[in-house]
Order: sequence, then C-alpha cells, then structure tokens
Amino acid sequence: MSIIKSKIRTIPDYPKPGIQFRDITSLLIDPEGLKLTIGSFVNRYQNQGITKVAGIEARGFIFGAALAFQLGIGFVPIRKKGKLPGETLSQEYALEYGVDHIEIHKDAARPGDKFLIMDDLIATGGTLIASIQLIKKLGADVHEAAVIVDLPDLGGSAKIEKELKIPIFSLCSFEGD
Ligand code: AMP
Repeated sequence: MSIIKSKIRTIPDYPKPGIQFRDITSLLIDPEGLKLTIGSFVNRYQNQGITKVAGIEARGFIFGAALAFQLGIGFVPIRKKGKLPGETLSQEYALEYGVDHIEIHKDAARPGDKFLIMDDLIATGGTLIASIQLIKKLGADVHEAAVIVDLPDLGGSAKIEKELKIPIFSLCSFEGD
C-alpha cells in the first residue's frame, strides 16, 4: 500500500555497505501509519479463524502483539536462542556466515491451533521458514505469514509459497533490493 510504503524510511549502507535498510520505526512513530498498518492486518484476519499470532523477535513482536490484541486472541513470541525461560523447541537457520537458532515454548500451541506468523520484513525468507518449521514441530497449522515489507528480488516470499505452500501477505514491496 503506497501510503504505508511512503512512511517507511530507507537507511542506506546499514548495517553494512550495500544494504538498503527498510526502517519501520518511521512508520511506528506516525499515528496514521501505525493505525493503517494494524488496521490492514485486522481487516484481513478478523474472520479467518486464526487462534494465535506468533511474532518473530524483535520487530514481529510489535505488530504481532497489536494484531493479537485487536483479534482477541493470544500472542506467542518466537525468540533468539536462550531467551525463553520455559522448555523450548529450537530450529536452526542459515545466516550469511554460519547458522543461528530461534526458539518457541513447547507449550505454545493447543491441538487445533491455527497460527498467523508476523514479522516486519521478508528478504531471503530464512527467518520465516525456520519459524514455520517451529510451529509445525508443535503440531499446529500455519495459516499464513504476514509482513509489512517484501523484498521480492531476494526470493523469500516466492520460495515459501512454492515450497511450503504457505501464503505470504505483505502490505508493500521494495523492488530492486
Ligand atoms: P530473511 O531471513 O533474509 O528473510 O531476513 C528477514 C529478517 O531480517 C527480518 O526479521 C528483517 O527484520 C531483517 N532484514 C533483512 N533485510 C532487511 C532490510 N533490508 N531492511 C530491514 N530489515 C531487514
């Protein structure tokens, strides 16, 4: 959506040269932008039978928790390794150099749960793929994944839709990244 896109600022060469960092803090600070963003997700998901929203650390927490509140359902954090205090399931995923892990509480799902996963942005899709795998390990269904920004040239959204058959919903995209 072009209003939302216009409120996302770009910081060139962050965190390293050549990266165009799509910074959603400029969207968050804008009352109209924030309302429009959460409202768009509420409109889409209010009648789809979603029972839980899982947000990916850290920016997925902001949008995911606001959406879960508006839908009247629970929120589940997906966190970096070692941050969750209870028993966890862990999933490895590839970084540019090496690997990392994300985790979810083992008791985060009930039988029949239908999850929506939320993050701010999808690039290569590595983080979202690992998150989908975690929720599947819990035995729950992933209905869809939602982001504010898609970077389609990096191929993550197409890969998830094709290989995992999970739809990706994005509010805007930046081509050519
Ligand atoms: P990926 O796993 O490659 O899809 O990367 C997605 C994660 O990295 C998200 O949690 C984003 O917050 C972050 N990220 C990757 N590229 C960018 C970018 N150009 N601008 C802002 N955040 C990014």
